[in-house]
Amino acid sequence: MEQRSAAASVPELAEDNLGFFRWGRVAGQVLVSNDAGDWTFLSEPEFADLLAGRVTADHARFEELQRKGFVRDGLDIEALTARMAQRNQHLRRGPWVHVVNLTRRRAAAAGGGGNGAAASSPDMSTETIERIVNFVLQSPSPSIDFEIQGDAGEPLFHLDGLRHLVEFAQARNQRETGKALTFRVLSNFTGLTEAAAEWLIADEVRVSTRLDGPADVHDANCQHLGGSAYADVARWIDYFHRRYGELGRDPRQWRVEALMNTTRRTLAAGTAVVDEYVARGLSAIHLQPLEAWQFDADTWAAIGYEWSEYLEFYRHTLDYILDLNRRGVEIAERQAGIFAAKILTFDDPGIVDIQSPSGAGTGQLVYDVDGRMFPCDEARIAAAMGDPLFELGRAGELSIAEIVRHPTVRAIAAASLLDAQPMCGDCWNKPFCGFSPVRNFLSQGDLFGQRPRCLECKEHMAVSRRVFELLADADDPASADALKRWGAPAHATASRRAQRAAP
Ligand code: SF4
Repeated sequence: MEQRSAAASVPELAEDNLGFFRWGRVAGQVLVSNDAGDWTFLSEPEFADLLAGRVTADHARFEELQRKGFVRDGLDIEALTARMAQRNQHLRRGPWVHVVNLTRRRAAAAGGGGNGAAASSPDMSTETIERIVNFVLQSPSPSIDFEIQGDAGEPLFHLDGLRHLVEFAQARNQRETGKALTFRVLSNFTGLTEAAAEWLIADEVRVSTRLDGPADVHDANCQHLGGSAYADVARWIDYFHRRYGELGRDPRQWRVEALMNTTRRTLAAGTAVVDEYVARGLSAIHLQPLEAWQFDADTWAAIGYEWSEYLEFYRHTLDYILDLNRRGVEIAERQAGIFAAKILTFDDPGIVDIQSPSGAGTGQLVYDVDGRMFPCDEARIAAAMGDPLFELGRAGELSIAEIVRHPTVRAIAAASLLDAQPMCGDCWNKPFCGFSPVRNFLSQGDLFGQRPRCLECKEHMAVSRRVFELLADADDPASADALKRWGAPAHATASRRAQRAAP
Protein backbone atom coordinates (compact mmCIF):
# COMPACT_ATOMS: atom_id res chain seq x y z
CA MET A 1 0.00 0.00 0.00
CA GLU A 2 1.31 3.47 -0.88
CA GLN A 3 2.28 5.49 2.19
CA ARG A 4 1.85 9.25 2.26
CA SER A 5 2.79 11.83 4.81
CA ALA A 6 1.89 15.46 5.39
CA ALA A 7 3.62 18.02 7.54
CA ALA A 8 1.51 19.59 10.27
CA SER A 9 2.60 22.47 12.43
CA VAL A 10 1.11 23.05 15.88
CA PRO A 11 0.54 26.75 16.53
CA GLU A 12 1.88 28.30 19.69
CA LEU A 13 -1.16 28.50 21.93
CA ALA A 14 -1.76 30.46 25.14
CA GLU A 15 -5.37 29.41 25.71
CA ASP A 16 -5.64 31.09 29.14
CA ASN A 17 -5.12 34.47 27.41
CA LEU A 18 -7.97 34.02 24.91
CA GLY A 19 -11.63 34.90 24.92
CA PHE A 20 -13.97 32.40 23.27
CA PHE A 21 -14.05 32.74 19.46
CA ARG A 22 -14.32 30.80 16.23
CA TRP A 23 -12.27 31.49 13.14
CA GLY A 24 -11.88 30.77 9.42
CA ARG A 25 -10.08 32.05 6.35
CA VAL A 26 -12.14 34.55 4.36
CA ALA A 27 -11.04 37.09 1.74
CA GLY A 28 -7.39 36.07 2.15
CA GLN A 29 -7.41 36.93 5.87
CA VAL A 30 -8.36 35.25 9.14
CA LEU A 31 -11.89 36.09 10.25
CA VAL A 32 -12.55 35.67 13.98
CA SER A 33 -16.07 35.90 15.44
CA ASN A 34 -17.77 35.29 18.79
CA ASP A 35 -21.26 34.52 20.10
CA ALA A 36 -22.11 38.20 20.53
CA GLY A 37 -21.56 38.74 16.80
CA ASP A 38 -18.29 40.66 17.26
CA TRP A 39 -15.88 39.98 14.42
CA THR A 40 -12.68 41.24 12.88
CA PHE A 41 -10.17 40.38 10.17
CA LEU A 42 -6.60 39.56 11.16
CA SER A 43 -3.50 38.97 9.07
CA GLU A 44 -1.82 35.59 9.54
CA PRO A 45 0.95 37.10 11.78
CA GLU A 46 -1.68 38.94 13.87
CA PHE A 47 -3.66 35.73 14.30
CA ALA A 48 -0.49 33.91 15.35
CA ASP A 49 0.14 36.72 17.88
CA LEU A 50 -3.41 36.37 19.23
CA LEU A 51 -3.12 32.58 19.67
CA ALA A 52 0.29 32.85 21.28
CA GLY A 53 -0.83 35.48 23.82
CA ARG A 54 1.36 38.19 22.30
CA VAL A 55 -1.55 40.63 21.87
CA THR A 56 -0.86 42.71 24.96
CA ALA A 57 -1.23 46.42 25.74
CA ASP A 58 1.54 47.50 23.36
CA HIS A 59 0.20 45.48 20.39
CA ALA A 60 -1.41 47.48 17.56
CA ARG A 61 -4.60 45.35 17.65
CA PHE A 62 -4.90 45.10 21.45
CA GLU A 63 -7.57 47.75 22.05
CA GLU A 64 -9.94 46.36 19.40
CA LEU A 65 -9.43 42.69 20.31
CA GLN A 66 -9.91 43.46 24.00
CA ARG A 67 -13.05 45.55 23.36
CA LYS A 68 -14.55 42.74 21.26
CA GLY A 69 -13.77 40.08 23.83
CA PHE A 70 -11.15 38.12 21.87
CA VAL A 71 -8.43 38.52 24.52
CA ARG A 72 -9.07 37.79 28.17
CA ASP A 73 -6.83 40.52 29.60
CA GLY A 74 -9.25 43.25 30.75
CA LEU A 75 -12.27 41.49 29.22
CA ASP A 76 -15.44 43.49 29.94
CA ILE A 77 -17.71 40.56 30.68
CA GLU A 78 -20.71 42.82 31.42
CA ALA A 79 -20.50 44.51 28.02
CA LEU A 80 -20.03 41.17 26.24
CA THR A 81 -23.05 39.72 28.04
CA ALA A 82 -25.14 42.76 27.12
CA ARG A 83 -24.25 42.36 23.42
CA MET A 84 -25.12 38.67 23.53
CA ALA A 85 -28.44 39.45 25.23
CA GLN A 86 -29.24 42.06 22.58
CA ARG A 87 -28.42 39.65 19.76
CA ASN A 88 -30.68 36.99 21.28
CA GLN A 89 -33.50 39.20 22.50
CA HIS A 90 -35.93 37.53 20.09
CA LEU A 91 -35.81 34.46 22.37
CA ARG A 92 -37.72 36.40 25.02
CA ARG A 93 -40.17 38.06 22.67
CA GLY A 94 -42.91 35.50 22.00
CA PRO A 95 -44.35 34.54 18.60
CA TRP A 96 -44.58 37.62 16.37
CA VAL A 97 -45.05 36.19 12.84
CA HIS A 98 -48.43 34.51 12.33
CA VAL A 99 -49.03 32.94 8.92
CA VAL A 100 -52.72 32.38 8.30
CA ASN A 101 -53.93 30.16 5.44
CA LEU A 102 -57.39 31.53 4.71
CA THR A 103 -58.54 29.22 1.95
CA ARG A 104 -57.77 26.16 -0.11
CA ARG A 105 -59.32 27.70 -3.21
CA ARG A 106 -57.06 28.54 -6.12
CA ALA A 107 -57.47 30.01 -9.56
CA ALA A 108 -57.85 26.99 -11.83
CA ALA A 109 -60.85 25.76 -9.89
CA ALA A 110 -61.97 28.55 -7.62
CA GLY A 111 -64.18 26.13 -5.73
CA GLY A 112 -61.61 23.33 -5.71
CA GLY A 113 -58.97 22.17 -3.28
CA GLY A 114 -55.29 22.94 -2.74
CA ASN A 115 -52.71 20.83 -0.96
CA GLY A 116 -54.44 17.96 0.75
CA ALA A 117 -57.89 19.35 -0.04
CA ALA A 118 -60.24 18.39 2.73
CA ALA A 119 -63.83 17.33 2.55
CA SER A 120 -64.75 20.28 4.81
CA SER A 121 -65.19 23.90 3.65
CA PRO A 122 -62.27 25.22 1.60
CA ASP A 123 -62.48 28.53 3.49
CA MET A 124 -61.50 29.38 7.06
CA SER A 125 -64.66 29.90 9.15
CA THR A 126 -65.43 33.13 11.01
CA GLU A 127 -65.24 31.25 14.31
CA THR A 128 -61.74 29.90 13.47
CA ILE A 129 -60.54 33.36 12.42
CA GLU A 130 -61.67 34.82 15.75
CA ARG A 131 -60.10 31.95 17.72
CA ILE A 132 -56.79 32.55 15.91
CA VAL A 133 -56.87 36.32 16.51
CA ASN A 134 -57.71 35.83 20.20
CA PHE A 135 -54.84 33.35 20.48
CA VAL A 136 -52.33 35.54 18.60
CA LEU A 137 -53.05 38.59 20.75
CA GLN A 138 -52.00 36.57 23.85
CA SER A 139 -48.42 36.71 22.57
CA PRO A 140 -46.18 38.86 24.76
CA SER A 141 -44.56 40.31 21.61
CA PRO A 142 -45.23 44.08 21.38
CA SER A 143 -45.59 43.79 17.60
CA ILE A 144 -47.44 41.20 15.55
CA ASP A 145 -47.08 40.47 11.83
CA PHE A 146 -50.06 38.73 10.25
CA GLU A 147 -48.99 37.11 6.96
CA ILE A 148 -52.11 36.00 5.13
CA GLN A 149 -51.87 33.44 2.37
CA GLY A 150 -53.85 30.63 0.82
CA ASP A 151 -53.01 26.94 1.06
CA ALA A 152 -51.04 26.86 -2.19
CA GLY A 153 -53.74 29.23 -3.39
CA GLU A 154 -55.18 32.68 -3.36
CA PRO A 155 -56.34 34.28 -0.08
CA LEU A 156 -58.33 36.94 -1.93
CA PHE A 157 -60.82 34.23 -2.93
CA HIS A 158 -61.90 34.49 0.71
CA LEU A 159 -62.04 38.27 0.85
CA ASP A 160 -64.80 38.26 3.49
CA GLY A 161 -62.56 36.19 5.74
CA LEU A 162 -59.61 38.50 5.13
CA ARG A 163 -61.68 41.57 5.96
CA HIS A 164 -63.01 39.95 9.10
CA LEU A 165 -59.53 38.92 10.24
CA VAL A 166 -58.14 42.44 9.77
CA GLU A 167 -61.10 44.28 11.27
CA PHE A 168 -61.61 41.88 14.19
CA ALA A 169 -57.89 41.96 15.06
CA GLN A 170 -57.73 45.77 14.83
CA ALA A 171 -60.81 46.20 17.02
CA ARG A 172 -59.71 43.73 19.70
CA ASN A 173 -56.20 45.09 19.70
CA GLN A 174 -57.39 48.69 20.05
CA ARG A 175 -59.72 47.69 22.89
CA GLU A 176 -57.47 45.37 24.84
CA THR A 177 -53.84 44.83 23.84
CA GLY A 178 -52.39 47.89 22.09
CA LYS A 179 -49.77 46.05 20.04
CA ALA A 180 -48.31 47.26 16.73
CA LEU A 181 -50.13 45.14 14.13
CA THR A 182 -48.98 44.66 10.53
CA PHE A 183 -51.04 42.82 7.92
CA ARG A 184 -49.49 41.49 4.72
CA VAL A 185 -51.35 39.44 2.12
CA LEU A 186 -49.43 37.11 -0.20
CA SER A 187 -51.53 37.09 -3.37
CA ASN A 188 -50.95 35.93 -6.92
CA PHE A 189 -53.62 38.52 -7.86
CA THR A 190 -55.98 36.00 -9.51
CA GLY A 191 -58.62 36.90 -6.92
CA LEU A 192 -58.04 40.66 -7.05
CA THR A 193 -60.58 43.26 -8.16
CA GLU A 194 -60.22 47.03 -8.13
CA ALA A 195 -62.64 47.24 -5.19
CA ALA A 196 -60.59 44.70 -3.23
CA ALA A 197 -57.35 46.53 -4.08
CA GLU A 198 -58.81 49.81 -2.81
CA TRP A 199 -59.88 48.15 0.44
CA LEU A 200 -56.38 46.70 0.93
CA ILE A 201 -54.89 50.16 0.40
CA ALA A 202 -57.41 51.94 2.65
CA ASP A 203 -56.98 49.43 5.51
CA GLU A 204 -53.19 49.52 5.15
CA VAL A 205 -52.86 45.84 4.31
CA ARG A 206 -49.47 45.39 2.65
CA VAL A 207 -49.20 43.30 -0.49
CA SER A 208 -46.73 40.63 -1.53
CA THR A 209 -46.86 38.68 -4.75
CA ARG A 210 -44.75 36.36 -6.82
CA LEU A 211 -42.73 37.72 -9.73
CA ASP A 212 -40.24 35.33 -11.31
CA GLY A 213 -38.84 37.79 -13.87
CA PRO A 214 -39.80 39.15 -17.28
CA ALA A 215 -42.70 37.59 -19.19
CA ASP A 216 -40.76 34.74 -20.79
CA VAL A 217 -39.24 33.57 -17.49
CA HIS A 218 -42.30 34.16 -15.31
CA ASP A 219 -44.75 32.51 -17.70
CA ALA A 220 -42.40 29.57 -18.37
CA ASN A 221 -42.16 28.97 -14.61
CA CYS A 222 -45.95 29.18 -14.31
CA GLN A 223 -46.24 26.09 -16.54
CA HIS A 224 -44.63 24.06 -13.73
CA LEU A 225 -45.49 26.07 -10.63
CA GLY A 226 -48.92 27.52 -11.41
CA GLY A 227 -49.77 31.08 -10.44
CA SER A 228 -50.95 33.95 -12.59
CA ALA A 229 -49.60 35.28 -15.87
CA TYR A 230 -46.88 37.90 -16.01
CA ALA A 231 -49.19 40.53 -17.55
CA ASP A 232 -51.61 40.37 -14.58
CA VAL A 233 -48.84 40.47 -11.97
CA ALA A 234 -47.12 43.43 -13.66
CA ARG A 235 -50.42 45.31 -14.07
CA TRP A 236 -51.37 44.98 -10.39
CA ILE A 237 -47.88 45.88 -9.10
CA ASP A 238 -48.05 49.04 -11.22
CA TYR A 239 -51.59 49.71 -9.94
CA PHE A 240 -50.56 49.56 -6.27
CA HIS A 241 -47.48 51.70 -6.83
CA ARG A 242 -49.50 54.32 -8.71
CA ARG A 243 -52.13 54.46 -5.96
CA TYR A 244 -49.54 54.61 -3.14
CA GLY A 245 -47.97 57.54 -4.98
CA GLU A 246 -51.31 59.33 -5.48
CA LEU A 247 -52.04 58.95 -1.76
CA GLY A 248 -48.63 60.35 -0.80
CA ARG A 249 -47.49 57.19 0.99
CA ASP A 250 -43.81 56.95 1.92
CA PRO A 251 -42.23 54.94 -0.93
CA ARG A 252 -39.69 53.42 1.49
CA GLN A 253 -42.58 51.85 3.42
CA TRP A 254 -45.18 51.35 0.72
CA ARG A 255 -43.98 49.10 -2.08
CA VAL A 256 -45.28 45.76 -3.23
CA GLU A 257 -42.97 42.99 -2.01
CA ALA A 258 -42.22 40.22 -4.49
CA LEU A 259 -40.99 36.70 -3.89
CA MET A 260 -39.48 34.70 -6.71
CA ASN A 261 -38.86 31.07 -7.53
CA THR A 262 -35.46 30.30 -9.02
CA THR A 263 -35.90 27.50 -11.55
CA ARG A 264 -33.42 26.13 -14.08
CA ARG A 265 -34.92 28.63 -16.55
CA THR A 266 -33.99 31.46 -14.15
CA LEU A 267 -30.33 30.50 -13.88
CA ALA A 268 -29.46 31.91 -17.29
CA ALA A 269 -31.61 35.01 -16.86
CA GLY A 270 -30.36 36.60 -13.61
CA THR A 271 -29.74 40.07 -15.04
CA ALA A 272 -33.05 40.10 -16.93
CA VAL A 273 -34.89 39.16 -13.72
CA VAL A 274 -33.23 42.01 -11.83
CA ASP A 275 -34.00 44.45 -14.67
CA GLU A 276 -37.66 43.40 -14.44
CA TYR A 277 -37.73 44.11 -10.69
CA VAL A 278 -36.20 47.54 -11.30
CA ALA A 279 -38.68 48.26 -14.10
CA ARG A 280 -41.60 47.42 -11.78
CA GLY A 281 -40.29 49.82 -9.10
CA LEU A 282 -39.59 47.06 -6.56
CA SER A 283 -37.04 47.93 -3.90
CA ALA A 284 -35.61 44.47 -3.33
CA ILE A 285 -35.26 41.03 -4.82
CA HIS A 286 -34.96 37.92 -2.67
CA LEU A 287 -32.79 35.29 -4.34
CA GLN A 288 -33.35 31.80 -2.91
CA PRO A 289 -32.88 28.26 -4.21
CA LEU A 290 -35.57 25.64 -4.60
CA GLU A 291 -35.08 22.17 -3.14
CA ALA A 292 -35.96 18.78 -4.62
CA TRP A 293 -38.22 17.74 -1.71
CA GLN A 294 -40.63 20.55 -2.60
CA PHE A 295 -41.61 18.88 -5.90
CA ASP A 296 -42.51 15.58 -7.48
CA ALA A 297 -39.73 13.88 -9.45
CA ASP A 298 -41.03 14.94 -12.89
CA THR A 299 -41.29 18.62 -11.93
CA TRP A 300 -37.85 18.64 -10.34
CA ALA A 301 -36.42 16.96 -13.46
CA ALA A 302 -37.84 19.86 -15.49
CA ILE A 303 -36.92 22.80 -13.23
CA GLY A 304 -34.21 21.56 -10.82
CA TYR A 305 -30.45 22.12 -10.68
CA GLU A 306 -27.36 21.33 -8.64
CA TRP A 307 -26.64 23.55 -5.64
CA SER A 308 -23.33 24.56 -7.24
CA GLU A 309 -25.25 25.93 -10.25
CA TYR A 310 -27.44 27.96 -7.91
CA LEU A 311 -24.46 29.42 -6.04
CA GLU A 312 -22.86 30.48 -9.31
CA PHE A 313 -26.14 32.14 -10.31
CA TYR A 314 -26.36 33.86 -6.93
CA ARG A 315 -22.88 35.29 -7.12
CA HIS A 316 -23.31 36.49 -10.71
CA THR A 317 -26.71 38.08 -10.00
CA LEU A 318 -25.56 39.72 -6.76
CA ASP A 319 -22.60 41.24 -8.60
CA TYR A 320 -25.02 42.68 -11.17
CA ILE A 321 -27.25 44.15 -8.42
CA LEU A 322 -24.22 45.76 -6.77
CA ASP A 323 -23.16 47.15 -10.14
CA LEU A 324 -26.60 48.75 -10.55
CA ASN A 325 -26.26 50.30 -7.09
CA ARG A 326 -22.87 51.72 -8.05
CA ARG A 327 -24.64 53.38 -10.98
CA GLY A 328 -27.29 54.91 -8.68
CA VAL A 329 -30.08 52.35 -9.15
CA GLU A 330 -31.52 51.49 -5.72
CA ILE A 331 -32.33 47.81 -5.50
CA ALA A 332 -31.39 45.47 -2.65
CA GLU A 333 -30.76 41.74 -2.57
CA ARG A 334 -32.69 40.58 0.48
CA GLN A 335 -30.63 37.52 1.48
CA ALA A 336 -27.40 39.53 1.48
CA GLY A 337 -29.28 42.26 3.38
CA ILE A 338 -30.34 39.81 6.11
CA PHE A 339 -26.74 38.66 6.61
CA ALA A 340 -25.48 42.25 6.42
CA ALA A 341 -27.90 43.18 9.21
CA LYS A 342 -26.63 40.31 11.36
CA ILE A 343 -22.99 41.13 10.65
CA LEU A 344 -23.15 44.91 10.91
CA THR A 345 -25.55 45.33 13.85
CA PHE A 346 -26.28 43.55 17.15
CA ASP A 347 -30.00 43.35 16.34
CA ASP A 348 -31.49 40.28 14.74
CA PRO A 349 -33.69 41.01 11.69
CA GLY A 350 -36.17 38.33 12.79
CA ILE A 351 -35.98 35.78 9.98
CA VAL A 352 -36.84 32.64 11.95
CA ASP A 353 -35.00 30.20 9.67
CA ILE A 354 -31.76 32.14 10.10
CA GLN A 355 -31.73 32.10 13.88
CA SER A 356 -30.16 29.83 16.48
CA PRO A 357 -32.27 28.22 17.75
CA SER A 358 -34.76 28.39 14.90
CA GLY A 359 -37.78 30.57 15.68
CA ALA A 360 -40.24 27.99 14.30
CA GLY A 361 -42.86 27.71 17.04
CA THR A 362 -41.32 30.37 19.29
CA GLY A 363 -41.14 33.31 16.84
CA GLN A 364 -43.51 32.11 14.15
CA LEU A 365 -46.69 30.03 13.97
CA VAL A 366 -48.66 28.85 10.94
CA TYR A 367 -52.42 28.21 10.90
CA ASP A 368 -54.17 25.93 8.45
CA VAL A 369 -57.68 26.61 7.15
CA ASP A 370 -59.23 24.42 9.87
CA GLY A 371 -57.31 26.12 12.71
CA ARG A 372 -54.56 23.51 13.14
CA MET A 373 -51.29 25.11 14.17
CA PHE A 374 -47.78 24.32 12.92
CA PRO A 375 -44.34 25.74 13.69
CA CYS A 376 -43.64 26.62 10.04
CA ASP A 377 -45.19 26.33 6.60
CA GLU A 378 -43.09 23.31 5.64
CA ALA A 379 -44.64 21.50 8.64
CA ARG A 380 -48.12 22.40 7.38
CA ILE A 381 -47.22 21.16 3.89
CA ALA A 382 -45.90 17.89 5.36
CA ALA A 383 -49.26 17.41 7.10
CA ALA A 384 -51.08 18.16 3.85
CA MET A 385 -48.96 15.44 2.20
CA GLY A 386 -50.06 12.95 4.87
CA ASP A 387 -47.52 13.35 7.71
CA PRO A 388 -48.97 15.38 10.63
CA LEU A 389 -45.82 14.84 12.72
CA PHE A 390 -45.33 18.56 13.42
CA GLU A 391 -48.96 19.48 14.16
CA LEU A 392 -49.10 21.39 17.47
CA GLY A 393 -52.84 21.49 18.18
CA ARG A 394 -55.67 23.89 17.40
CA ALA A 395 -55.87 27.61 18.03
CA GLY A 396 -57.99 28.18 21.10
CA GLU A 397 -57.21 24.83 22.68
CA LEU A 398 -53.67 25.67 23.84
CA SER A 399 -52.15 28.82 25.31
CA ILE A 400 -49.12 30.59 23.83
CA ALA A 401 -47.06 29.34 26.81
CA GLU A 402 -48.13 25.74 26.08
CA ILE A 403 -47.20 26.14 22.41
CA VAL A 404 -43.68 27.47 23.00
CA ARG A 405 -43.08 24.66 25.53
CA HIS A 406 -44.60 22.02 23.23
CA PRO A 407 -42.35 18.94 22.87
CA THR A 408 -42.26 19.41 19.08
CA VAL A 409 -41.19 23.05 19.41
CA ARG A 410 -38.54 22.08 21.95
CA ALA A 411 -37.25 19.33 19.65
CA ILE A 412 -36.97 21.87 16.81
CA ALA A 413 -35.10 24.29 19.10
CA ALA A 414 -32.69 21.58 20.28
CA ALA A 415 -32.02 20.43 16.71
CA SER A 416 -31.26 23.96 15.49
CA LEU A 417 -29.07 25.23 18.34
CA LEU A 418 -25.92 25.71 16.31
CA ASP A 419 -23.55 25.58 19.28
CA ALA A 420 -24.40 21.89 19.63
CA GLN A 421 -24.27 20.84 15.96
CA PRO A 422 -21.24 19.16 14.38
CA MET A 423 -19.50 21.66 12.04
CA CYS A 424 -21.66 24.60 13.23
CA GLY A 425 -20.10 24.54 16.70
CA ASP A 426 -16.72 25.39 15.14
CA CYS A 427 -17.91 27.56 12.24
CA TRP A 428 -16.97 31.26 11.99
CA ASN A 429 -20.46 31.86 10.53
CA LYS A 430 -22.26 30.46 13.60
CA PRO A 431 -23.18 33.88 15.13
CA PHE A 432 -24.96 34.88 11.91
CA CYS A 433 -26.47 31.60 10.73
CA GLY A 434 -29.38 29.18 11.19
CA PHE A 435 -31.32 26.43 9.47
CA SER A 436 -34.72 24.79 9.56
CA PRO A 437 -34.88 21.36 11.24
CA VAL A 438 -38.21 20.72 9.50
CA ARG A 439 -36.50 21.17 6.13
CA ASN A 440 -33.77 18.80 7.33
CA PHE A 441 -36.50 16.29 8.16
CA LEU A 442 -38.13 16.65 4.74
CA SER A 443 -34.88 16.56 2.76
CA GLN A 444 -32.69 14.25 4.87
CA GLY A 445 -35.10 12.29 7.08
CA ASP A 446 -34.09 13.65 10.48
CA LEU A 447 -34.36 16.94 12.34
CA PHE A 448 -30.63 17.44 12.87
CA GLY A 449 -29.49 16.59 9.35
CA GLN A 450 -25.87 16.62 8.25
CA ARG A 451 -24.34 19.92 7.22
CA PRO A 452 -22.58 18.58 4.09
CA ARG A 453 -26.02 17.49 2.81
CA CYS A 454 -27.79 20.69 3.92
CA LEU A 455 -28.54 23.21 1.17
CA GLU A 456 -29.24 25.98 3.69
CA CYS A 457 -25.73 25.49 5.12
CA LYS A 458 -24.13 25.84 1.70
CA GLU A 459 -26.28 28.83 0.81
CA HIS A 460 -25.81 30.67 4.11
CA MET A 461 -22.08 30.02 4.07
CA ALA A 462 -21.82 31.35 0.49
CA VAL A 463 -23.91 34.47 1.14
CA SER A 464 -22.17 35.31 4.41
CA ARG A 465 -18.71 34.72 2.91
CA ARG A 466 -19.56 37.02 -0.01
CA VAL A 467 -20.83 39.75 2.34
CA PHE A 468 -17.58 39.58 4.35
CA GLU A 469 -15.50 39.60 1.15
CA LEU A 470 -17.26 42.77 0.01
CA LEU A 471 -16.85 44.42 3.41
CA ALA A 472 -13.14 43.57 3.34
CA ASP A 473 -12.56 44.98 -0.15
CA ALA A 474 -10.99 48.41 0.38
CA ASP A 475 -11.10 49.06 -3.38
CA ASP A 476 -14.89 48.72 -3.51
CA PRO A 477 -16.40 51.02 -0.82
CA ALA A 478 -19.59 51.38 -2.88
CA SER A 479 -20.51 47.72 -2.34
CA ALA A 480 -19.87 48.00 1.39
CA ASP A 481 -22.11 51.10 1.44
CA ALA A 482 -24.85 49.19 -0.40
CA LEU A 483 -24.66 46.36 2.15
CA LYS A 484 -24.98 48.87 5.00
CA ARG A 485 -28.15 50.28 3.39
CA TRP A 486 -29.59 46.79 2.82
CA GLY A 487 -28.85 45.78 6.41
CA ALA A 488 -30.77 48.74 7.83
CA PRO A 489 -33.96 47.63 9.62
CA ALA A 490 -36.47 48.79 7.00
CA HIS A 491 -34.85 46.65 4.32
CA ALA A 492 -33.81 43.59 6.28
CA THR A 493 -37.17 43.07 7.97
CA ALA A 494 -39.57 44.13 5.23
CA SER A 495 -40.63 40.53 4.83
CA ARG A 496 -40.11 38.30 7.86
CA ARG A 497 -40.24 35.14 5.86
CA ALA A 498 -37.49 33.60 3.84
CA GLN A 499 -39.51 31.00 2.01
CA ARG A 500 -40.44 29.77 -1.39
CA ALA A 501 -42.95 31.98 -3.12
CA ALA A 502 -46.53 30.79 -3.23
CA PRO A 503 -47.93 29.95 -6.67
S1 SF4 B 1 -25.18 25.80 8.95
FE1 SF4 B 1 -23.20 25.70 7.86
S2 SF4 B 1 -22.61 27.85 7.54
FE2 SF4 B 1 -24.18 27.80 9.14
S3 SF4 B 1 -23.05 27.70 11.07
FE3 SF4 B 1 -23.52 25.58 10.46
S4 SF4 B 1 -21.70 24.91 9.33
FE4 SF4 B 1 -21.61 27.15 9.44
